Amino acid sequence: MKAVIIGAGMGGLSAAIALKQIGLDVEVYEQVTENKPVGAAISVWSNGVKCLNHLGLEQETADLGGIVDTMSYVDGLTGDTMCRFSMQPLIDEVGQRPYPVARAELQLMLMNAYGIDDIHFGKKMVAVTDGEDAATVEFADGTTDSADLVIGADGAKSLTREYVLGHEVERRYAGYVNFNGLVEVDDAIGPASEWTTYVGEGKRVSAMPIAGNRFYFFFDVPMPEGQSYERGTAREVLTEHFAGWAPGVQRLIEKLDPSTTNRVEILDLDPFHTWVKGRVAVLGDAAHNTTPDIGQGGCSAMEDAVALQFAFTEHPNDVHAALGAYEKARTERAGDLVLRARKRCDVTHAKDPEATAAWYEELRSEDGTRIIRGIVSNIVGGPLTS
Ligand SMILES: Cc1cc2nc3c(=O)[nH]c(=O)nc-3n(C[C@H](O)[C@H](O)[C@H](O)COP(=O)(O)OP(=O)(O)OC[C@H]3O[C@@H](n4cnc5c(N)ncnc54)[C@H](O)[C@@H]3O)c2cc1C
Repeated sequence: MKAVIIGAGMGGLSAAIALKQIGLDVEVYEQVTENKPVGAAISVWSNGVKCLNHLGLEQETADLGGIVDTMSYVDGLTGDTMCRFSMQPLIDEVGQRPYPVARAELQLMLMNAYGIDDIHFGKKMVAVTDGEDAATVEFADGTTDSADLVIGADGAKSLTREYVLGHEVERRYAGYVNFNGLVEVDDAIGPASEWTTYVGEGKRVSAMPIAGNRFYFFFDVPMPEGQSYERGTAREVLTEHFAGWAPGVQRLIEKLDPSTTNRVEILDLDPFHTWVKGRVAVLGDAAHNTTPDIGQGGCSAMEDAVALQFAFTEHPNDVHAALGAYEKARTERAGDLVLRARKRCDVTHAKDPEATAAWYEELRSEDGTRIIRGIVSNIVGGPLTS
Protein backbone atom coordinates (compact mmCIF):
# COMPACT_ATOMS: atom_id res chain seq x y z
CA MET A 1 0.00 0.00 0.00
CA LYS A 2 1.29 3.44 -0.92
CA ALA A 3 0.54 6.76 0.81
CA VAL A 4 1.28 10.24 -0.48
CA ILE A 5 1.63 12.82 2.27
CA ILE A 6 1.38 16.50 1.47
CA GLY A 7 3.27 18.70 3.93
CA ALA A 8 6.43 18.03 5.93
CA GLY A 9 5.34 19.83 9.09
CA MET A 10 5.13 18.00 12.40
CA GLY A 11 1.83 16.39 11.41
CA GLY A 12 2.87 15.15 7.99
CA LEU A 13 6.24 13.88 9.18
CA SER A 14 4.76 12.11 12.19
CA ALA A 15 2.25 10.44 9.88
CA ALA A 16 4.99 9.50 7.43
CA ILE A 17 7.04 7.84 10.18
CA ALA A 18 3.95 6.14 11.63
CA LEU A 19 2.85 4.66 8.29
CA LYS A 20 6.37 3.66 7.32
CA GLN A 21 6.67 1.87 10.68
CA ILE A 22 3.87 -0.50 9.66
CA GLY A 23 5.21 -1.14 6.20
CA LEU A 24 3.42 1.30 3.90
CA ASP A 25 5.33 2.91 1.04
CA VAL A 26 5.31 6.62 1.78
CA GLU A 27 6.12 9.66 -0.35
CA VAL A 28 6.28 13.07 1.35
CA TYR A 29 5.91 16.28 -0.67
CA GLU A 30 6.66 19.72 0.78
CA GLN A 31 6.29 23.06 -0.94
CA VAL A 32 9.19 24.85 0.77
CA THR A 33 12.75 24.14 -0.24
CA GLU A 34 14.29 23.90 3.25
CA ASN A 35 13.48 23.26 6.92
CA LYS A 36 12.42 26.74 8.06
CA PRO A 37 9.44 26.47 10.39
CA VAL A 38 7.44 29.54 11.34
CA GLY A 39 7.66 30.06 15.11
CA ALA A 40 10.42 29.51 17.62
CA ALA A 41 9.35 26.57 19.76
CA ILE A 42 6.36 24.67 21.08
CA SER A 43 5.47 22.91 24.26
CA VAL A 44 4.96 19.26 23.52
CA TRP A 45 2.64 18.11 26.27
CA SER A 46 2.79 14.56 27.63
CA ASN A 47 0.28 13.25 25.05
CA GLY A 48 2.48 14.57 22.22
CA VAL A 49 5.64 13.21 23.84
CA LYS A 50 4.00 9.79 24.16
CA CYS A 51 3.29 9.88 20.42
CA LEU A 52 6.92 10.77 19.66
CA ASN A 53 8.07 7.98 21.98
CA HIS A 54 5.76 5.61 20.11
CA LEU A 55 7.42 6.69 16.87
CA GLY A 56 10.77 5.58 18.32
CA LEU A 57 11.98 9.06 19.27
CA GLU A 58 12.03 8.88 23.05
CA GLN A 59 15.69 9.74 23.61
CA GLU A 60 15.87 12.31 20.79
CA THR A 61 12.83 14.15 22.13
CA ALA A 62 14.17 14.14 25.69
CA ASP A 63 17.47 15.53 24.38
CA LEU A 64 15.70 18.50 22.77
CA GLY A 65 13.29 19.16 25.62
CA GLY A 66 13.57 21.71 28.37
CA ILE A 67 13.07 20.56 31.94
CA VAL A 68 10.11 22.30 33.53
CA ASP A 69 10.10 21.46 37.23
CA THR A 70 7.78 24.24 38.33
CA MET A 71 5.24 26.64 36.88
CA SER A 72 4.53 30.13 38.14
CA TYR A 73 2.16 32.99 37.43
CA VAL A 74 3.41 36.47 38.13
CA ASP A 75 1.50 39.73 38.30
CA GLY A 76 2.78 41.40 35.15
CA LEU A 77 2.60 44.89 36.57
CA THR A 78 3.95 44.45 40.11
CA GLY A 79 6.18 41.44 39.52
CA ASP A 80 4.61 39.70 42.56
CA THR A 81 4.39 35.93 42.31
CA MET A 82 0.71 34.93 42.27
CA CYS A 83 1.38 31.20 42.50
CA ARG A 84 4.17 28.70 42.02
CA PHE A 85 3.77 24.94 41.98
CA SER A 86 5.52 21.72 41.05
CA MET A 87 4.89 19.91 37.76
CA GLN A 88 5.55 16.56 39.43
CA PRO A 89 1.89 15.76 40.20
CA LEU A 90 1.13 16.15 36.49
CA ILE A 91 4.03 13.91 35.47
CA ASP A 92 2.99 11.33 38.06
CA GLU A 93 -0.61 11.35 36.90
CA VAL A 94 -0.05 11.04 33.15
CA GLY A 95 3.22 9.13 33.31
CA GLN A 96 5.26 11.38 31.05
CA ARG A 97 7.13 14.68 31.41
CA PRO A 98 6.15 17.33 28.86
CA TYR A 99 8.94 18.95 26.82
CA PRO A 100 9.14 22.44 25.38
CA VAL A 101 11.31 22.13 22.24
CA ALA A 102 12.66 24.41 19.51
CA ARG A 103 10.53 24.02 16.40
CA ALA A 104 13.41 23.81 13.95
CA GLU A 105 15.01 21.07 16.06
CA LEU A 106 11.75 19.13 16.36
CA GLN A 107 11.26 19.38 12.59
CA LEU A 108 14.80 18.24 11.90
CA MET A 109 14.43 15.32 14.30
CA LEU A 110 11.27 14.20 12.50
CA MET A 111 12.82 14.74 9.06
CA ASN A 112 15.84 12.65 9.99
CA ALA A 113 13.66 9.93 11.50
CA TYR A 114 11.69 9.67 8.27
CA GLY A 115 14.74 10.18 6.03
CA ILE A 116 15.45 13.78 5.08
CA ASP A 117 16.80 12.79 1.67
CA ASP A 118 13.55 11.06 0.85
CA ILE A 119 11.43 14.21 1.30
CA HIS A 120 10.48 15.86 -1.98
CA PHE A 121 11.09 19.54 -1.25
CA GLY A 122 9.99 22.36 -3.53
CA LYS A 123 6.83 20.47 -4.56
CA LYS A 124 3.71 22.56 -4.15
CA MET A 125 0.52 20.58 -4.56
CA VAL A 126 -2.02 22.47 -6.66
CA ALA A 127 -4.74 19.82 -7.04
CA VAL A 128 -5.89 16.53 -5.55
CA THR A 129 -8.40 14.13 -7.05
CA ASP A 130 -9.84 10.83 -5.95
CA GLY A 131 -10.52 7.85 -8.18
CA GLU A 132 -11.80 4.29 -7.90
CA ASP A 133 -8.33 2.74 -7.63
CA ALA A 134 -6.10 5.61 -6.61
CA ALA A 135 -5.93 9.23 -5.51
CA THR A 136 -3.76 11.62 -7.49
CA VAL A 137 -1.98 14.85 -6.61
CA GLU A 138 -0.71 17.41 -9.06
CA PHE A 139 2.14 19.80 -8.38
CA ALA A 140 2.86 23.35 -9.52
CA ASP A 141 5.66 22.05 -11.75
CA GLY A 142 3.15 19.94 -13.69
CA THR A 143 4.21 16.56 -12.26
CA THR A 144 1.77 14.17 -10.58
CA ASP A 145 1.85 11.23 -8.20
CA SER A 146 -0.80 8.61 -7.42
CA ALA A 147 -1.27 6.40 -4.38
CA ASP A 148 -3.76 4.26 -2.53
CA LEU A 149 -4.30 7.19 -0.22
CA VAL A 150 -3.40 10.86 0.09
CA ILE A 151 -2.95 12.52 3.47
CA GLY A 152 -3.25 16.29 3.37
CA ALA A 153 -1.08 17.53 6.21
CA ASP A 154 -0.87 20.85 4.43
CA GLY A 155 -1.48 23.11 7.40
CA ALA A 156 -4.00 25.73 8.41
CA LYS A 157 -4.61 26.99 4.86
CA SER A 158 -5.02 23.46 3.53
CA LEU A 159 -5.96 22.88 -0.08
CA THR A 160 -6.74 19.25 0.74
CA ARG A 161 -9.34 20.42 3.26
CA GLU A 162 -11.08 22.35 0.50
CA TYR A 163 -11.21 19.18 -1.58
CA VAL A 164 -12.47 17.02 1.30
CA LEU A 165 -15.14 19.50 2.39
CA GLY A 166 -16.03 20.61 -1.12
CA HIS A 167 -15.81 24.27 -0.19
CA GLU A 168 -13.51 26.89 1.28
CA VAL A 169 -13.68 27.74 4.97
CA GLU A 170 -12.95 30.99 6.68
CA ARG A 171 -10.73 30.99 9.72
CA ARG A 172 -11.60 33.19 12.69
CA TYR A 173 -9.27 35.84 14.13
CA ALA A 174 -8.92 35.06 17.85
CA GLY A 175 -8.31 38.69 18.83
CA TYR A 176 -4.61 38.72 19.66
CA VAL A 177 -1.13 38.70 18.22
CA ASN A 178 1.64 36.44 19.51
CA PHE A 179 5.31 37.51 19.39
CA ASN A 180 7.72 34.64 19.99
CA GLY A 181 11.40 33.74 19.96
CA LEU A 182 14.31 32.26 21.87
CA VAL A 183 16.68 33.88 24.37
CA GLU A 184 19.43 32.66 26.64
CA VAL A 185 18.17 31.63 30.10
CA ASP A 186 18.24 34.60 32.46
CA ASP A 187 17.23 34.47 36.14
CA ALA A 188 15.94 38.01 35.95
CA ILE A 189 13.23 36.75 33.58
CA GLY A 190 12.47 33.55 35.47
CA PRO A 191 14.19 30.55 37.09
CA ALA A 192 15.96 28.20 34.66
CA SER A 193 13.69 25.21 35.26
CA GLU A 194 10.44 27.10 35.64
CA TRP A 195 7.72 28.00 33.16
CA THR A 196 7.08 31.61 34.18
CA THR A 197 3.99 33.47 32.97
CA TYR A 198 3.38 37.16 33.62
CA VAL A 199 -0.27 38.21 33.30
CA GLY A 200 -2.14 41.51 33.38
CA GLU A 201 -4.39 43.76 31.27
CA GLY A 202 -5.48 40.74 29.22
CA LYS A 203 -1.88 40.33 28.03
CA ARG A 204 0.52 37.53 28.75
CA VAL A 205 4.30 37.09 28.72
CA SER A 206 5.73 33.62 29.09
CA ALA A 207 9.18 32.06 29.25
CA MET A 208 9.89 28.36 29.43
CA PRO A 209 13.12 26.36 29.20
CA ILE A 210 14.19 24.37 26.15
CA ALA A 211 17.46 22.46 25.73
CA GLY A 212 20.70 24.40 25.33
CA ASN A 213 20.22 26.88 28.18
CA ARG A 214 17.51 28.78 26.26
CA PHE A 215 14.08 30.12 27.05
CA TYR A 216 11.27 29.95 24.53
CA PHE A 217 9.35 33.17 25.12
CA PHE A 218 6.14 34.65 23.87
CA PHE A 219 4.12 37.81 24.33
CA ASP A 220 0.35 37.86 23.69
CA VAL A 221 -1.13 41.25 22.86
CA PRO A 222 -4.85 41.69 22.14
CA MET A 223 -5.30 44.02 19.16
CA PRO A 224 -7.41 44.30 16.01
CA GLU A 225 -6.52 42.11 13.05
CA GLY A 226 -4.33 43.37 10.23
CA GLN A 227 -2.28 46.03 12.05
CA SER A 228 0.81 47.05 10.11
CA TYR A 229 4.12 45.76 11.44
CA GLU A 230 7.65 45.98 10.18
CA ARG A 231 9.77 42.90 10.85
CA GLY A 232 12.65 43.72 13.17
CA THR A 233 10.71 46.23 15.28
CA ALA A 234 9.54 43.84 18.02
CA ARG A 235 11.52 45.61 20.73
CA GLU A 236 9.95 49.02 20.06
CA VAL A 237 6.47 47.55 19.68
CA LEU A 238 6.69 45.44 22.85
CA THR A 239 8.27 48.28 24.86
CA GLU A 240 5.18 50.30 24.08
CA HIS A 241 2.67 47.52 24.82
CA PHE A 242 4.38 46.56 28.08
CA ALA A 243 5.30 49.99 29.43
CA GLY A 244 5.18 49.91 33.22
CA TRP A 245 5.36 46.10 33.40
CA ALA A 246 7.61 44.26 35.85
CA PRO A 247 11.44 44.23 35.58
CA GLY A 248 11.47 40.60 34.33
CA VAL A 249 9.38 41.58 31.33
CA GLN A 250 11.57 44.60 30.60
CA ARG A 251 14.64 42.37 30.79
CA LEU A 252 13.12 39.97 28.27
CA ILE A 253 12.31 42.83 25.88
CA GLU A 254 15.92 44.06 26.20
CA LYS A 255 17.36 40.58 25.61
CA LEU A 256 15.25 39.39 22.65
CA ASP A 257 16.67 39.51 19.17
CA PRO A 258 14.22 41.62 17.12
CA SER A 259 15.50 40.16 13.86
CA THR A 260 14.43 36.63 14.83
CA THR A 261 11.33 37.48 16.85
CA ASN A 262 8.22 36.24 15.06
CA ARG A 263 4.86 38.00 15.01
CA VAL A 264 1.81 35.81 14.40
CA GLU A 265 -1.85 36.79 14.24
CA ILE A 266 -3.74 33.99 15.98
CA LEU A 267 -6.63 32.34 14.15
CA ASP A 268 -8.63 29.18 14.55
CA LEU A 269 -11.34 27.26 12.80
CA ASP A 270 -14.68 25.89 13.97
CA PRO A 271 -14.37 22.12 14.40
CA PHE A 272 -15.69 20.03 11.51
CA HIS A 273 -16.19 16.29 11.36
CA THR A 274 -15.65 15.34 7.73
CA TRP A 275 -11.98 14.57 7.42
CA VAL A 276 -12.11 12.00 4.65
CA LYS A 277 -13.34 11.93 1.07
CA GLY A 278 -12.72 8.58 -0.59
CA ARG A 279 -8.98 7.99 -0.51
CA VAL A 280 -8.11 11.51 0.63
CA ALA A 281 -7.89 12.60 4.29
CA VAL A 282 -6.77 15.65 6.23
CA LEU A 283 -4.46 15.57 9.26
CA GLY A 284 -2.97 18.14 11.67
CA ASP A 285 -3.84 21.82 11.29
CA ALA A 286 -5.56 21.00 8.00
CA ALA A 287 -8.13 19.11 10.08
CA HIS A 288 -8.20 21.12 13.30
CA ASN A 289 -6.74 24.58 13.41
CA THR A 290 -6.59 25.81 16.98
CA THR A 291 -5.36 28.81 18.93
CA PRO A 292 -2.21 27.89 20.85
CA ASP A 293 -3.75 28.67 24.25
CA ILE A 294 -3.53 25.15 25.63
CA GLY A 295 -0.49 24.17 23.53
CA GLN A 296 -2.25 21.27 21.88
CA GLY A 297 -2.29 21.94 18.11
CA GLY A 298 0.93 20.12 17.31
CA CYS A 299 0.29 17.45 19.94
CA SER A 300 -3.06 16.81 18.33
CA ALA A 301 -1.37 16.44 14.92
CA MET A 302 0.92 13.81 16.45
CA GLU A 303 -2.11 12.05 17.91
CA ASP A 304 -3.65 12.03 14.41
CA ALA A 305 -0.53 10.32 13.09
CA VAL A 306 -0.64 7.58 15.73
CA ALA A 307 -4.40 7.10 15.25
CA LEU A 308 -3.82 6.79 11.49
CA GLN A 309 -1.26 4.08 12.14
CA PHE A 310 -3.64 2.23 14.43
CA ALA A 311 -6.39 2.46 11.80
CA PHE A 312 -4.17 0.93 9.11
CA THR A 313 -2.95 -1.73 11.51
CA GLU A 314 -6.56 -2.66 12.13
CA HIS A 315 -7.57 -2.51 8.44
CA PRO A 316 -4.36 -3.32 6.55
CA ASN A 317 -5.95 -4.03 3.20
CA ASP A 318 -8.87 -1.65 3.16
CA VAL A 319 -8.12 2.04 2.66
CA HIS A 320 -11.73 3.11 3.06
CA ALA A 321 -12.23 1.20 6.31
CA ALA A 322 -8.93 2.47 7.67
CA LEU A 323 -9.61 6.12 6.82
CA GLY A 324 -13.13 5.78 8.23
CA ALA A 325 -11.71 4.40 11.49
CA TYR A 326 -9.16 7.24 11.59
CA GLU A 327 -11.86 9.86 11.15
CA LYS A 328 -14.05 8.24 13.79
CA ALA A 329 -11.20 8.08 16.27
CA ARG A 330 -10.14 11.68 15.87
CA THR A 331 -12.69 14.33 15.00
CA GLU A 332 -14.41 14.61 18.35
CA ARG A 333 -11.21 14.62 20.39
CA ALA A 334 -9.47 17.17 18.14
CA GLY A 335 -12.55 19.41 17.96
CA ASP A 336 -12.85 19.34 21.73
CA LEU A 337 -9.27 20.62 22.07
CA VAL A 338 -9.99 23.46 19.61
CA LEU A 339 -12.97 24.57 21.69
CA ARG A 340 -11.10 24.24 24.98
CA ALA A 341 -8.31 26.40 23.59
CA ARG A 342 -10.81 28.98 22.38
CA LYS A 343 -12.37 29.19 25.83
CA ARG A 344 -8.97 29.54 27.48
CA CYS A 345 -8.00 32.14 24.90
CA ASP A 346 -10.99 34.32 25.75
CA VAL A 347 -10.28 34.25 29.48
CA THR A 348 -6.55 34.89 29.06
CA HIS A 349 -7.06 37.78 26.66
CA ALA A 350 -9.89 39.58 28.47
CA LYS A 351 -12.69 39.06 26.01
CA ASP A 352 -14.85 39.50 29.10
CA PRO A 353 -12.71 41.62 31.45
CA GLU A 354 -14.66 40.50 34.53
CA ALA A 355 -13.95 36.82 33.83
CA THR A 356 -10.28 37.66 33.37
CA ALA A 357 -10.14 39.64 36.62
CA ALA A 358 -11.74 36.65 38.39
CA TRP A 359 -9.08 34.38 36.86
CA TYR A 360 -6.30 36.67 38.13
CA GLU A 361 -7.87 36.48 41.60
CA GLU A 362 -8.06 32.70 41.33
CA LEU A 363 -4.36 32.55 40.46
CA ARG A 364 -3.51 34.30 43.72
CA SER A 365 -4.98 31.41 45.71
CA GLU A 366 -3.88 28.62 43.36
CA ASP A 367 -1.75 25.79 44.74
CA GLY A 368 -1.45 24.15 41.34
CA THR A 369 -4.28 21.67 41.81
CA ARG A 370 -6.80 23.36 39.51
CA ILE A 371 -4.29 24.23 36.81
CA ILE A 372 -2.82 20.74 36.74
CA ARG A 373 -6.30 19.24 36.66
CA GLY A 374 -7.05 21.40 33.60
CA ILE A 375 -3.83 20.43 31.82
CA VAL A 376 -4.35 16.73 32.59
CA SER A 377 -7.84 16.90 31.13
CA ASN A 378 -6.32 18.21 27.86
CA ILE A 379 -3.69 15.49 27.82
CA VAL A 380 -6.07 12.62 28.44
CA GLY A 381 -8.22 11.31 25.58
CA GLY A 382 -5.73 10.69 22.77
CA PRO A 383 -4.72 7.36 21.22
CA LEU A 384 -2.01 6.80 23.84
CA THR A 385 -3.62 8.62 26.77
CA SER A 386 -7.13 7.18 26.88
C1 LIG B 1 2.14 30.93 18.07
C2 LIG B 1 1.86 29.45 18.07
C3 LIG B 1 2.24 28.68 19.14
C4 LIG B 1 1.96 27.31 19.16
N1 LIG B 1 2.32 26.58 20.24
C5 LIG B 1 2.04 25.26 20.28
C6 LIG B 1 2.41 24.49 21.40
O1 LIG B 1 2.97 24.99 22.36
N2 LIG B 1 2.12 23.16 21.39
C7 LIG B 1 1.51 22.56 20.33
O2 LIG B 1 1.28 21.34 20.36
N3 LIG B 1 1.14 23.28 19.25
C8 LIG B 1 1.39 24.61 19.19
N4 LIG B 1 1.04 25.34 18.11
C9 LIG B 1 0.33 24.68 17.00
C10 LIG B 1 1.29 23.97 16.06
O3 LIG B 1 2.26 24.88 15.59
C11 LIG B 1 0.52 23.39 14.88
O4 LIG B 1 -0.60 22.71 15.33
C12 LIG B 1 1.41 22.45 14.08
O5 LIG B 1 2.48 23.17 13.50
C13 LIG B 1 0.59 21.76 13.00
O6 LIG B 1 1.41 20.95 12.24
P1 LIG B 1 0.99 20.55 10.77
O7 LIG B 1 2.06 19.64 10.29
O8 LIG B 1 -0.41 20.11 10.74
O9 LIG B 1 1.00 21.92 9.97
P2 LIG B 1 2.23 22.85 9.60
O10 LIG B 1 3.24 22.83 10.65
O11 LIG B 1 1.64 24.17 9.21
O12 LIG B 1 2.85 22.16 8.31
C14 LIG B 1 2.19 22.15 7.09
C15 LIG B 1 3.23 21.95 6.00
O13 LIG B 1 2.55 21.77 4.76
C16 LIG B 1 3.23 22.51 3.76
N5 LIG B 1 2.25 22.80 2.71
C17 LIG B 1 1.15 23.60 2.79
N6 LIG B 1 0.49 23.61 1.62
C18 LIG B 1 1.18 22.80 0.76
C19 LIG B 1 0.99 22.44 -0.60
N7 LIG B 1 -0.03 22.90 -1.31
N8 LIG B 1 1.89 21.60 -1.16
C20 LIG B 1 2.95 21.11 -0.44
N9 LIG B 1 3.19 21.45 0.85
C21 LIG B 1 2.30 22.28 1.45
C22 LIG B 1 3.72 23.76 4.51
O14 LIG B 1 4.80 24.37 3.82
C23 LIG B 1 4.13 23.17 5.84
O15 LIG B 1 5.46 22.74 5.87
C24 LIG B 1 1.29 26.71 18.06
C25 LIG B 1 0.91 27.49 16.97
C26 LIG B 1 1.19 28.85 16.97
C27 LIG B 1 0.77 29.67 15.79
